Amino acid sequence: MIISYDFRVDLLEYAARGKENDFPILDACPNCKCIAYGNIHRNGYYWRYGVTDEETMKIPICRMRCLVCKKSFSVLPDFLIPYFQHTIHTILKRIHQFLQKKKANGSRQLLRFHLIRYYKCLNWIHSFFTDLGKVLGVSKKRKKEATKYMIMILDFGESSFLRRSWGHLSKHFMAN
Ligand SMILES: [Zn+2]
Repeated sequence: MIISYDFRVDLLEYAARGKENDFPILDACPNCKCIAYGNIHRNGYYWRYGVTDEETMKIPICRMRCLVCKKSFSVLPDFLIPYFQHTIHTILKRIHQFLQKKKANGSRQLLRFHLIRYYKCLNWIHSFFTDLGKVLGVSKKRKKEATKYMIMILDFGESSFLRRSWGHLSKHFMAN
């Protein structure tokens, strides 16, 4: 199980702080919902990459475990999407550049992969914003839809969108 968390720092600062980041103290288990202080224990770290147009950083991800239900969690900074090495900002910037017919940074192959995933998520994004009461007319033109929701996500704030939409219809943004 992955938790998306706002550390209030960017990738560079998170990498610099490493294991000294301000990891959350959970007083309720996200899985079994038990509320008893001290049930969630830190359970080491794993290392993964965070990539932007400028940097590739190796960063620690904190693992936690609930003593009651035995479930493990990892606390992923909200500038990253689960299973994607590039930051959400980098991925969305490149997709947005493509949608605006600008030259996008990075490899075309990777862009294609991100684009396909993004397009697959459009109905889900639409559903999330509809639930928030931000209903807009639906166009049959996929690219128009893709651009519209890109702008809505950017207006919402990329990481805020990632966290707020987390778990909507039991999915997260860019999940397969
Ligand atoms: Zn639990």
